[in-house]
Amino acid sequence: MASRSKQLWIWLAITALVALIVIPLWGPMRIAWRCYWLHENGVREQAEVMAKLPNANFALRVIDGPHAGEVCTADTSVAIYDDTEIGESLEVVYVEWKPGECELASTIEASGWLLWFVVAVIGSILAGLIALGVTLSRSFTRLVNPKRRMKVEAGEVRCHVCGEAMEEGYLPLVSGIQWRRIGEPIGLPHALKGLAGTVGWRGRPRLHAFRCSTCEIVSFQYGNPSENRPGQA
Ligand SMILES: [Zn+2]
Repeated sequence: MASRSKQLWIWLAITALVALIVIPLWGPMRIAWRCYWLHENGVREQAEVMAKLPNANFALRVIDGPHAGEVCTADTSVAIYDDTEIGESLEVVYVEWKPGECELASTIEASGWLLWFVVAVIGSILAGLIALGVTLSRSFTRLVNPKRRMKVEAGEVRCHVCGEAMEEGYLPLVSGIQWRRIGEPIGLPHALKGLAGTVGWRGRPRLHAFRCSTCEIVSFQYGNPSENRPGQA
């Protein structure tokens, strides 16, 4: 697959993931934003509970302030709904852009933090996904070389089994390469242990190598790139 079309697939997958995360959070986000706006800009008024409606909703009549006499509905938590009696007075903010609706001050206070929480969650997930996209996209386009080269002419390296010229390349490692002598116990091999220069604590190690695809043999050099060895270029 061409690198351009790989990149396209990477960004399509990232966009799909972003949509999968953002779409379900859109509802809570809107509610939180509305609560935050009302918290900052709304006029607090006292209202009397006229009736308790299904689904934890109240019908209220505003008794003071600029909307005195207006009737509005407000939803609340089940706990507040159960605790409140008809005739009680509650603090509300009238929703100017939706006549007939108000929010309880308690709801606004309780969900004000939700906006920042949701924004922080969405923000970090999106930043993480974009960073992942950039990293993946770079790994398909950036030209890389091994960190050090063996002191040999590429055309001169021959397969020790068939004698044919070996192809030059490098081994990108995802975990350390383990070495045991014949008959030696295997021990406990893991990704963060291995031959010098094969463990990727900082970035992915790249070992200069030669390959014979006929015999399926790879010959490579390991070791710390900063240390001088006889075979190092
Ligand atoms: Zn060979």
